[in-house]
Amino acid sequence: MLKTLLATVDGMVYRRRLDPDWTMEFVSSGCLRVTGHHPGDLLFNNRIAYGDLVICEDRLWVREAITCAVEEARSFDLEYRIVHADGSTRWVWERGTGVIDDHGKPIALEGLVQDITKRKSAEQALREAERRYHGLFDNAIEGIFRTTVDGHYLDANPALAHIYGFDSPEELMKSLRNIGAQLYVDKQRRDEFMHIMKARGSVTGFESQVYRKSGDIIWISENARAIFAEDGSPVAYEGTVEDITERRLYQVRIEHQANYDTLTGLANRSLLQDRLQQALLTAASSGRRIAVAFVDLDRFKFINDSLGHHVGDELLKAVAARLKACVRDCDTVARLGGDEFVLLINGHTGPEYVRQLMDKMLASVAQPWIIEQGDFLVSCSIGVALHPDDGEEALTLLKHADSAMYRAKDSGRNNFQFFTRELNALMTEQLELETHLRRALERNQFVLRYQPRVSLVTGQIVGAEALLRWRIPQRGTVPPLRFITLAEETGLIVPIGKWVLQTACAQNKAWQDAGLAPIVVSVNVSPRQFRHESLVQTVGEALRSTRLEARYLELELTESMVMHDAPQLVAMLDELKELGVKIAVDDFGTGYSSLSYLKRFPVDRLKVDRSFVEHMTTEADDATIVRAIIALGHNLGLKVVAEGVETAQQARALRAYQCDEAQGFLFARAVSARALPRLVTRSRPDQRG
Ligand code: C2E
Ligand code: MG
Ligand code: MG
Repeated sequence: MLKTLLATVDGMVYRRRLDPDWTMEFVSSGCLRVTGHHPGDLLFNNRIAYGDLVICEDRLWVREAITCAVEEARSFDLEYRIVHADGSTRWVWERGTGVIDDHGKPIALEGLVQDITKRKSAEQALREAERRYHGLFDNAIEGIFRTTVDGHYLDANPALAHIYGFDSPEELMKSLRNIGAQLYVDKQRRDEFMHIMKARGSVTGFESQVYRKSGDIIWISENARAIFAEDGSPVAYEGTVEDITERRLYQVRIEHQANYDTLTGLANRSLLQDRLQQALLTAASSGRRIAVAFVDLDRFKFINDSLGHHVGDELLKAVAARLKACVRDCDTVARLGGDEFVLLINGHTGPEYVRQLMDKMLASVAQPWIIEQGDFLVSCSIGVALHPDDGEEALTLLKHADSAMYRAKDSGRNNFQFFTRELNALMTEQLELETHLRRALERNQFVLRYQPRVSLVTGQIVGAEALLRWRIPQRGTVPPLRFITLAEETGLIVPIGKWVLQTACAQNKAWQDAGLAPIVVSVNVSPRQFRHESLVQTVGEALRSTRLEARYLELELTESMVMHDAPQLVAMLDELKELGVKIAVDDFGTGYSSLSYLKRFPVDRLKVDRSFVEHMTTEADDATIVRAIIALGHNLGLKVVAEGVETAQQARALRAYQCDEAQGFLFARAVSARALPRLVTRSRPDQRG
């Protein structure tokens, strides 16, 4: 029974002498598994002595330890290595006691030897792993920490100490007793950290500002996670810390450059768009009302051109400061470039609030601006779009505020206008018109009408003004006032104007070829065409290709146009004169110009604006103006034409004032090219037949 029992023991039960060979007196069958030898081989050193199995390095100390224990009558408990029969080294664990005879003299050892190689290698692997991880921990570039839940350090690596400015992890752990209170610059940020930690159990890329030992502030990025006890309660936090101060500084600089206007320090277009988007996102949930105001300085170009760019820049800065001072911190003032500003009013009580704010801004901007060069009165025009009534999206709101601003400009500047539905309808129509206008030329949708110009002396038709008509199938005819501005804005006026010139010249030549008494055809030229260098060339080409004599072509330019770009204009007019064409100033009296240009410019004819002719028989002032213009023209040796003559009474008065020619519904409306010859012939009885 004992034998069976011993056989089941994991290991080798033995009794051995205390002699140098450690001669075995008894060995259980477990011997085979532990040593690889049969129990019989070891018994009485039959084939091998147990003492020889112990590896050399361990032999001495094992024997000493055992001897010592036996002498002190203690049991012993040792781990050492033996050589297995297969040649491999095995770790064994031996426990035993000395056996003493009746005289108390130790005579043998009894005990158990077990193979613990597996456990040993596992331990070694663990130690190895530990060593490796320690290496990582100690040598990492990132700071690594472990803390208690209430903010005490359990562990910190050298890198963490370095980041926080301490000489060693020990110093750091000793000094930072309360992380929440001592480390974080913004306590709220720490609370956020803890909040996320509690909610999710981990935090990644959490950026915050902390104090270094020296008191300097740095930016760090943390990754951390909670370690939980078995009952699910957090027992510690561990994680890593990275010093991101450099990156943050760079980022801040880049962000600032990307988001702010360098001149005024105001938000730029991109930041405005972000803020607006953000405001719109939260508007729905918060019920906050948003308004967008487009602000454009009046006559900024004038100051910029006349006083120089540096003064212009100063003005922009001053205006930026004034605008900024009118709004609250939650609002945004942005500069889009040039003299265009946009205000985002984030949260307001209604249109009345916005109205008052706009009044305040207008007043603030209109304060005299006093600089070295003098006192200047600046004003601005503002257009306002309200969310959500005037648009749901950022772009729509901006666009609508912009068009309301144009309305403010049209209404005489230094005022503000709300966006309205009519404005919207107008805009949509305008857009549609623009799309059509781009194809109008190639689709042959333009025609010219000719309005006769009559000599007030002879009653004969001496000329005709070519007036452009745009016919859109299924939509009817669009009058020039509705599309000329658009054509100018889009630049389409240049090709269209070229077509008008070409067509009018060809038509006039065709009339002459058909035997009609020669007349002068006038063509309206818009400012944009005039600013285009090729105008002289275009005119020359039209004359050449149609073989029309230059003296039968007259160009009409408006007074306001003559005012600008004076030097180039004079040169251009001279060139045109050299070609032999005539020049008339259209809508005379409506522009606010100095009359001196009339002397400098090679002008042939003045066309008194219709607005004066209209009331000249009822309003004394208008009659005076018409008379003055006629006198002025004659003094300068120019012919004077009255526009928009509708009544015989007006014609009589004009004749009395010795006005040379007239144009108007009284004589004829603009007619087709086919209808004109009949009118001309009828007006010149001498040529009839
Ligand atoms: P504008 O050059 O002053 O042309 C005279 C305008 O007054 C014409 O209008 C003509 O139909 C109108 N009118 C003539 N007599 C009377 C009258 O007795 N009573 C009234 N109430 N109106 C009269 P329209 O054809 O609508 O042209 C408007 C403006 O469009 C023109 O003013 C001119 O500035 C511009 N325009 C017309 N054709 C062209 C063109 O080919 N090129 C350019 N750039 N502008 C053009
Ligand atoms: Mg005209
Ligand atoms: Mg006119």
